[in-house]
Amino acid sequence: MYISEIFKEKPNTLSFEVFPPKKSDDLEKIMSTVTELAHNPVDYMSVTYGAGGTTASYTTDIADHMQNTLGITALSHLTCVNASKDSVNKVLLSLREKGIENILALRGDLPSGVNLENLEFSHASDLATEIKKFGGFCVGGACYPECHPDAASLDADIENLKIKIDSGVDFLVTQMFFDNDRFYDFRDRAAKKGINVPIDAGIMPLTNINQIKKMCILSGGASMPQKFTRMIAKYADNPLALKQAGIAYAVDQIIDLLSNDTAGVHIYTMNKPDIAQKITNVINDLF
Ligand code: FAD
Repeated sequence: MYISEIFKEKPNTLSFEVFPPKKSDDLEKIMSTVTELAHNPVDYMSVTYGAGGTTASYTTDIADHMQNTLGITALSHLTCVNASKDSVNKVLLSLREKGIENILALRGDLPSGVNLENLEFSHASDLATEIKKFGGFCVGGACYPECHPDAASLDADIENLKIKIDSGVDFLVTQMFFDNDRFYDFRDRAAKKGINVPIDAGIMPLTNINQIKKMCILSGGASMPQKFTRMIAKYADNPLALKQAGIAYAVDQIIDLLSNDTAGVHIYTMNKPDIAQKITNVINDLF
């Protein structure tokens, strides 16, 4: 089923994201993780695409498992930086053969020294155009409530986002954020620029101190409200308490988002089904 259709049918959606393993030995473990996640009332699940495409076949295998073994709508991520049209079309063909109908079209991070002008795809919007030309897919795109790190300003980033929407992107998934007000501000600004597709809010339950440090770097420095930094400071030396507090913070964020008409919540599960389960235990009637 197209994810755009799920958004039409439901006032709020719940989705989970997993990432593929680096080596084939770990593939079975991730398949079990996905199976466990599927026990929750989830509307769709997504699987990331390793930069450089070295784990591309695992992404397709995991999406296949979601879609065809578990019967959960799968969203397969696909990056285009450094990819050729031929290689992209091969992936599209393989997804089509497996009955996967949803793709998150991404540029991917630019490797250092690469000049955008020398690439077959410079932006995610070029990939969205190629996928729509191929046909038969619902296409999602990424967005950044606190601005993509390469963009000159949030307004410039939203102008670029409009190009992506006009290239055929049907819905958006945000970068993680911890301050819902940043998301509401972004959503208002995007709407003023004519961006009216459903926007899934990306929520990362932060449950250990190393993950917090790593994620804040990867997310390009998502701002942290005082409530959040106080929580980290208070429980930094108590891993069990920090895990509980991190889950409670994510639940609190989700309830506020749903109360403010957010189309969907996309949980970055970090391949930890127990944490996703603890969250949905508290909020499953909200979806
Ligand atoms: P784009 O939409 O191309 O934007 C990149 C930059 O270019 C922005 O600054 C934007 O303002 C600018 N821009 C966009 N279009 C234009 C245009 N037409 N003209 C001029 N400037 C333009 N990475 C992975 O490697 N694998 C994944 O599976 C993955 N999944 C992700 C999922 C989500 C929900 C998010 C938020 C990010 C994900 N990423 C993933 C990271 C992502 O690839 C990086 O953030 C990357 O730097 C940008 O990708 P994008 O698709 O947003 O790029």
